[in-house]
Amino acid sequence: MATTESTQALEQVPNLCAGEWVAVASTRISKVFNPSTGQAIAQVALSSTEEVNKVVAAAADALADWSETPIVERARVMFRLRQIMDDRFNEIAALVTREHGKTLAESRAEVQRAVEMVEFACGIPSMSVGDTMPNIARDVDAETNRHPLGVCVGITPYNFPSMVPMWMIPVALTCGNTFVLKPSEKTPLSANLIGEMLLEAGLPPGVFGIVHGDKESVDTLLAHEDVKAISFVGSTPIAKYIYETGTKNGKRVQAAGGAKNHLIIMPDADLDLSVKALTASAFGCGGQRCMAGSIAVAIGSIGDPLVDGLNEHAGGLRVGPSEGNEDVDMGPLIRQDHVDRVAGFMDVASSEGANIALDGRRDFTGDGFLIGPSVVDQVKTPMKIAQEEIFGPVLSVIRADDLESAIKIGQECPYGNGASIFTRNGYAARQFKRHFNAGMIGINVGVPAPMPWFPFTGWNQSFFGDLHIQGTESVQFYTQQKMTLTRWFASPTDSHHDPVWKTERKDQQ
Ligand code: NAD
Repeated sequence: MATTESTQALEQVPNLCAGEWVAVASTRISKVFNPSTGQAIAQVALSSTEEVNKVVAAAADALADWSETPIVERARVMFRLRQIMDDRFNEIAALVTREHGKTLAESRAEVQRAVEMVEFACGIPSMSVGDTMPNIARDVDAETNRHPLGVCVGITPYNFPSMVPMWMIPVALTCGNTFVLKPSEKTPLSANLIGEMLLEAGLPPGVFGIVHGDKESVDTLLAHEDVKAISFVGSTPIAKYIYETGTKNGKRVQAAGGAKNHLIIMPDADLDLSVKALTASAFGCGGQRCMAGSIAVAIGSIGDPLVDGLNEHAGGLRVGPSEGNEDVDMGPLIRQDHVDRVAGFMDVASSEGANIALDGRRDFTGDGFLIGPSVVDQVKTPMKIAQEEIFGPVLSVIRADDLESAIKIGQECPYGNGASIFTRNGYAARQFKRHFNAGMIGINVGVPAPMPWFPFTGWNQSFFGDLHIQGTESVQFYTQQKMTLTRWFASPTDSHHDPVWKTERKDQQ
């Protein structure tokens, strides 16, 4: 499966700076591929420090006006953006499929989640009303209100090129910040479409900027004195690096990392529902989701029928190029080297004694980055396949005797994004919900990803920071509170004592 490319000149992906699309002068180039064809479709010049600084300077210049724009007017930009996204829905989804490879149905679901983030942001004014306490001391009123932080930065991964930037941008902007996005260099085209739609919605120049680049751009942003907050989504080693470097430089940081998600199937589970939910969880988006089911823990007698059901159901998935093709259930992966990496996990699992029950390593026609779904049975927790994030279409099955053993497997896992149980037993579900070592729990749900009104509560090495993405926590992340005490005088002679700090304890009189 060689990667070929068109002989035509490749489209250059520009930065967005001060409301203008600006060509990047750097000679360091990264190609963007269409995973369905294996062809390069565009190229990104990786921004230099100087080019990053220009975009941050434009965002800093735009801050004074934007932060003084009344919040209802800022929210109105989001209402307009929501309408534009609705009008251009299929175009956005087709672009996600073109540069990422997921199926059109999956891209539509992604864009729908992105639209919901904008809908959440439309309601931020009602979440921004401050607190007041009249007469907290004699003739003194207290109040708190929220202020923006300044220039905020988002650094995003390749796997949800439309949704993940939208986890950040609408909230940060509606809260009164300006924002610079550094999207994945593998999927930069959806980011520029977001920029185009924000300008169409009437966002003033500079309020939102885009920098295309790699580590050099990220390191510039992490050190820039005008950057006040950083939101990161990506793999755990980089999330940890971003958190440590950003906080050392005095920035507020939220950094979501990788995952290894467990799906527990109890003996009393609805087998048909479980098989379908596990298949969708593990193989949706080719397994390239931080909430993808990665390890099924089959309890007791359900093990054999579960593996048989998975083999049949997952084995029946139609795998193929996804661009312009509605007749596929699973598209290609992002790059050929990622396909090779996923296959490598299977090789190691075989050598460590696991049983490859369904083998996705097959030959496909065409040059797309294709691999089929795999089910690996008889996996033991020390095996590499059970320890590391694969981020591909491989579901491991661990056999266990009881729920306590499954909970112990979770406790030994360094990650902690999502985990689900499949059961009809309410008490087992409750035990699992209370004791499993993960931040997002599903009960008879394959992918327990929260909608925007709830926080994306990864635990352990799946998240670094205090305030999560989405929900009220995201509004807290992008704002700082100010408390004001106001003292009122009944008469001019009343002004010589401080009623707050004056001690009037009866026992001291
Ligand atoms: P990645 O960590 O390779 O890249 C993410 C971002 O970091 C990109 O913008 C990239 O340019 C930048 N980056 C990469 N290497 C860097 C370095 N050395 N220094 C500074 N910046 C660097 O992640 P990816 O491969 O694009 O995405 C897949 C990963 O993202 C998976 O691990 C997945 O679990 C994770 N993810 C997590 C969540 C979540 O909510 N927890 C959501 C989506 C994806």
